[in-house]
Formats: sequence, C-alpha cells, structure tokens
Amino acid sequence: MIVFDMDGVLVEVKESYRESIRATVLHFTGKDVPHDLIQHYKNQGGWNNDWKLSHELCSVYGKEVAYETVVETFNRYFFGVDGTPGLIEREKWIDTTGVLKRLNQRYDFAIFTGRLNAEAQITLRRFAGDLNITAVIGDDNVTQSKPHPEGLLKLMEQHQVVYYLGDTVDDAKASKAAHVPFIAITAPGGNFAAFSPAHFLTSINELETVL
Ligand SMILES: [Mg+2]
Repeated sequence: MIVFDMDGVLVEVKESYRESIRATVLHFTGKDVPHDLIQHYKNQGGWNNDWKLSHELCSVYGKEVAYETVVETFNRYFFGVDGTPGLIEREKWIDTTGVLKRLNQRYDFAIFTGRLNAEAQITLRRFAGDLNITAVIGDDNVTQSKPHPEGLLKLMEQHQVVYYLGDTVDDAKASKAAHVPFIAITAPGGNFAAFSPAHFLTSINELETVL
C-alpha cells in the first residue's frame, strides 16, 4: 500500500486553504500575509492545522481573536456562504498525467491527511472518482494529529505500507516514527535532509520514476 498526504501532494491548495488563511488574517488584522511566510510556518512543522495557523498569524500581526471566531471566519472563506462559492473550489488536482490510475493497478492506496475526513471526501469525490482508495484517515480519525504516526500505524495493522508521501516536516516525522520509508514532495524551502527520505520528487507526476 502507498499512503499519501493530501494537501500539496495530491491537491494544490495555494488558492484554497492557503488563500483562506490569507483572507482570514486580512479580515481581522488588515495585513496581507505573504504566501512565503505561510510556507515558512508549514516548513517548520507543527502548523498542519490551518485554523491554528490563522489564529497564530492574527496574533503575530497584533490582533487577539477568539479561536472559534477565527475558525468560523476561515470556514466562511473556505466553504463559501449564501451561494457565494468558497475558495475550496479553487483546488487543483495535481495528477495531470494519469499516474495515479496507472499505479493504482499495482498498489493499494490510502490517504493520511490533516484534513477532517469529510473535507477530504469532498475533494476525492470531485477529482478521484476513478481511483480505488482503500482507506482515508483524517484528523478526526486519530486521537493524536501529525506528526504523531497514529494514522500510519492504524493502516499498518492491516496493510503493508511501502511508502508515505508527504510535503511537510510533520509528514516526514510521522513516517520516521512509524518506520515507513518516506517520499518527500519538496516545496520551496522545505528541508527534509534530517529525515533521510527514500526519494525526493517535485511532484507526484514523477512517481513512476521511483516505483
Ligand atoms: Mg501536505
């Protein structure tokens, strides 16, 4: 079985999740967070949860906002309100070459994501209807979020996991803790050297070059 992280690996989220962070922080602080700063936090690890990161950035820019208020506002931008389309609709499926369909004939697939399961399913219904995905483990399906390896360990109870593919340090940490070989999808500034990934790729479209 190959296990995939979702955001930044299967789905380009710069215009959806990342833009929702930007819009939320702008909403409360009037400050425009550069995407590079958001990437910097993601690269550091520990900022897998976009609600928490939005909350933190509001604070960094000098506004203390109640966490639930941040979550509510973020969700309005992300899912849309009153018929206004949310930024979720700007997500893009990264596989443009049919690579997943081909590999799915040789490997079982699963997803271990920091998204809530229902949010992952929305995107999979939209883009991955032709794939056979054995299991989806969301943040609400584990008691401990990434970088804890619980999601991978759960999958390993029933399957032989050959690789975990992720794009953040938290993914690499989870993989290492579960003793699963890691394939790093490298974002600018990402530093995975300490985790000795089995392979470095810039996109899953290159996955067949290493499998
Ligand atoms: Mg990711």
